Amino acid sequence: MNYFGSVKFYRHLIILVVLILMITPYIFAAFLISSNSSLKEQLEISENKLIYNNISYLDSMSISSVANMSTQYYDQKSIDYIKENLPYQSKYDDLYVERKDFVINESNEKTAYLTFDDGPSPLTLKILDLLDEYNIKATFFVTYKDDDSSISIYKEIVNRGHKIGIHTSSHVYDEIYSSIDAYLDDFYKIFTHIYDITGVKPDIFRFPGGSINPYNVTIHKEIIAEMLRRGFTYYDWNVDSGDGFVDSTKSSIIESVKNRSKNFNKVIVLMHDSDYKQNTYQALPTIIDYLNENNYNIEKLDSTIVPIIFAYKD
Ligand SMILES: [Zn+2]
Repeated sequence: MNYFGSVKFYRHLIILVVLILMITPYIFAAFLISSNSSLKEQLEISENKLIYNNISYLDSMSISSVANMSTQYYDQKSIDYIKENLPYQSKYDDLYVERKDFVINESNEKTAYLTFDDGPSPLTLKILDLLDEYNIKATFFVTYKDDDSSISIYKEIVNRGHKIGIHTSSHVYDEIYSSIDAYLDDFYKIFTHIYDITGVKPDIFRFPGGSINPYNVTIHKEIIAEMLRRGFTYYDWNVDSGDGFVDSTKSSIIESVKNRSKNFNKVIVLMHDSDYKQNTYQALPTIIDYLNENNYNIEKLDSTIVPIIFAYKD
């Protein structure tokens, strides 16, 4: 009898089919693993490139989505960068601070950092008094002013135990973000001003508009690289009180902080202490009570605290 069509043939055919069925998952798995590792390789290559250039790629992302995106930590790797000798690196050889190691807090403790931008102003003093009443410390990212009253407020911030950080001298977006040099010029002016007045070298800062915004989108990576190289640490926020909006009210500010802090054990609250931000001042006691009732320790920032930043991929 012919082999094809014989019982033997069918037996062999069945064995073959069973064998194929048995080994298919392994072939499939092998395929997956190999494609996965080449993907991993690609990622590693692009990550190295990113570190080398100290650049993160947000280009495909629209600015509006950046504002909404979840914040992330940057890690020490993002400061192992810069290979080039760029002319602005030799500017201001006293514009350096000592970088401290971050202290990683792995407990589930809840911490809130209240931060105030755009001061000093007469409102700053009222806020300082309020913070004293509650016996809590906060962080002030200040701008440049040289009238007597402002000078005494810088001192008050430091003397009452709060953290003073740099926001900007001029707060004019078109100027400060026009070039790295322009950013450094502006930064240096307020840095030396604060150091002269208070004796403290500010080692933390906050970008006007946040670390990525429509005005600095083309140069923010390079500014960040340069400021990290000089030892400074920057902080964005994950809880916007919304007090920057013209139609914000005392209750909208309170609600924003409550709603937005819900999801985080660690919150950095963005607020403003320009003189006309009376709603912020009015909202503050309720905000502090809320954070206390929800078991947040309220503390000031310092450069050992792992920052919350927008979208910096190391
Ligand atoms: Zn500002």
